[in-house]
Amino acid sequence: MSLTPIGDGALADDPMVYVHNVTKTYHSTPVIKDVSFQVAKGEVVSLIGPSGAGKSTLLRCINHLEVPDSGYILVDDALVGYRQSGDDFVEATDADAARARSTVGMVFQRFNLFQHLTATENIILAPREVLGMKKSDAVKQAHELLARVGLSHRVDNYPSQLSGGEQQRVAIARALAMNPKVMLFDEATSALDPELVGDVLAVIEGLANDGMTMIMVTHEMAFAREVSSRVLFLADGGIVEQGSAAQIFDAPEHERTRTFLSRVKRAA
Ligand code: ADP
Repeated sequence: MSLTPIGDGALADDPMVYVHNVTKTYHSTPVIKDVSFQVAKGEVVSLIGPSGAGKSTLLRCINHLEVPDSGYILVDDALVGYRQSGDDFVEATDADAARARSTVGMVFQRFNLFQHLTATENIILAPREVLGMKKSDAVKQAHELLARVGLSHRVDNYPSQLSGGEQQRVAIARALAMNPKVMLFDEATSALDPELVGDVLAVIEGLANDGMTMIMVTHEMAFAREVSSRVLFLADGGIVEQGSAAQIFDAPEHERTRTFLSRVKRAA
């Protein structure tokens, strides 16, 4: 991998996430094209744009579920997917990668809970196995996190006994159990019945208010407008424009953004 030197002052404000010239290609089709952006600590950034724009792939690169073909990503100054050995960067082992990934929590459209484990058991798994946390501490933390997402009464329930919205809140608690520095949400409410969306959005909003750094791919435009410190509009693997929620939703500069927003509005 070739690393562009990061000179003094190159990082404007010590960002929590630094995406630098990232390109990702599938079967010789570029889906992320030389994308760069930064996310400051405590910022909530929404990625919006048409299906196929590359939003999900970008999130997956930040979480090292995908490896960029070129460019690199830093999370809290640590290079995602690599570790420093002297002056060199070498590819992280699976164990390194699991630890590094634990600094980034990710919540998916499908909740991916283990069906044979209770809510508490789902949440304690990674802290026990990756961080070596003592069982009693992990259970105590899981119960605190379930309380935080409004599910104190569900600690011993299996996923099949929970609604989709409840399962997604368990998935959020599970991600938080690793004490992540950044939370990524990939269309976290898209698979939910409309009446269950509000409870999940309320949990995400609570995290924003607590100062969690977050990057969200979302189709919930009203929600993105409410919680985002910044909105990035992506199309065809690139950032077309970015700005405050008011700038992007009320005064988009690019025709592409205007077309997308008017389509979304018509569909709502
Ligand atoms: P978005 O989240 O904006 O809808 P994605 O990041 O999911 O976009 O996808 C961007 C493009 O990359 C799409 O054309 C999609 O078909 C393609 N793509 C995504 N993942 C893969 C993969 N694992 N293999 C091949 N193509 C993929």
